[in-house]
Amino acid sequence: MDDMSCNGCGASIAAGEHSVKFKCPACGETIVRCSKCKVTSNNYTCRKCGFVGP
Ligand SMILES: [Zn+2]
Ligand SMILES: [Zn+2]
Repeated sequence: MDDMSCNGCGASIAAGEHSVKFKCPACGETIVRCSKCKVTSNNYTCRKCGFVGP
């Protein structure tokens, strides 16, 4: 299963929920942010390489 959770706050993201997906600029790992973290511009942390970005 592709278990998606927000890289900002850790909340699990349900299918169809508003979220943003993009690739880590450092390693290319998929980063997911929930709509809440998107609005608040919460920092994210890449699980793979530890990159932290806005
Ligand atoms: Zn979040
Ligand atoms: Zn990374």
